[in-house]
Amino acid sequence: MEVFVLEIRCSYQGKDDVLYPVLLRNGKELVLVDCGYAGSMPLLQAAANRHGISLDALTGILITHHDIGHMGGVQELKMAYSAAKVYASATEAPYISGKEKSLRLQQAEALYDTLPEDLKAWARQLQETLKAVQAVAVDGIASESGVPASWGDMQIIPTPGHTPGHISVYLPQSKTLLAADAVVVEKGELELANPALTLNPEQAIASVRRLLQLEVDQLICYHGGMVEKDIREKLERLVEKYTPVQPPPASSDKDQPDAYSSPACYAHLKDFREGF
Ligand SMILES: [Zn+2]
Repeated sequence: MEVFVLEIRCSYQGKDDVLYPVLLRNGKELVLVDCGYAGSMPLLQAAANRHGISLDALTGILITHHDIGHMGGVQELKMAYSAAKVYASATEAPYISGKEKSLRLQQAEALYDTLPEDLKAWARQLQETLKAVQAVAVDGIASESGVPASWGDMQIIPTPGHTPGHISVYLPQSKTLLAADAVVVEKGELELANPALTLNPEQAIASVRRLLQLEVDQLICYHGGMVEKDIREKLERLVEKYTPVQPPPASSDKDQPDAYSSPACYAHLKDFREGF
């Protein structure tokens, strides 16, 4: 697969944001990995055009997880490019298709009563934004054990933590990793994507450890873009940073859903406003 990083500049709740969706192309397929907030389609089209690519050839849209910055624009893309099939992990699919209520919305609602008055107007606005996300049918499941054969040597790497069914994409031939929100670039270093929004920090760090098992020459973060230097060292520093302060709790599998539904993850409200 050829890799084309799309840089799109958008605004989320009045704040400028730069996102890096990726187009993957081989002789048969043109697959977009994540697609920005609602209204991003013209930005995606323009970014693709800058690589000499028309989205008219789009055959697939792979959504790494159901945060609005990743799936907000999928419905409009599906309307415009009906041949493109939407893929996601089995865990994220019900949230993307609207069969399950967004975990972010559940958490925003759970948090509301605990907020100081001056944040409540903003929190109501956030809930409305989350409610307004257009659900879209998921046509196929992308998993560790399978993507469409025509996608070639692409591998799906489950990287839960940020959300339960979050996935990253690995292309062994070019040793390229699309991390999505498993890691982000901040001031030249790798970091967890907004720790206040990381639904299960222990799992998120376990996912970073998993990425360390891959040989990576190019790391593409949805927030921060391309990293080509010292990838392993940066991933190791990230693991080290969180390991001493957040040892895995002695929890059974039974505790996992609680870890995901706990509003305690939102201790740092100002971080909650940083986006998805
Ligand atoms: Zn996210």
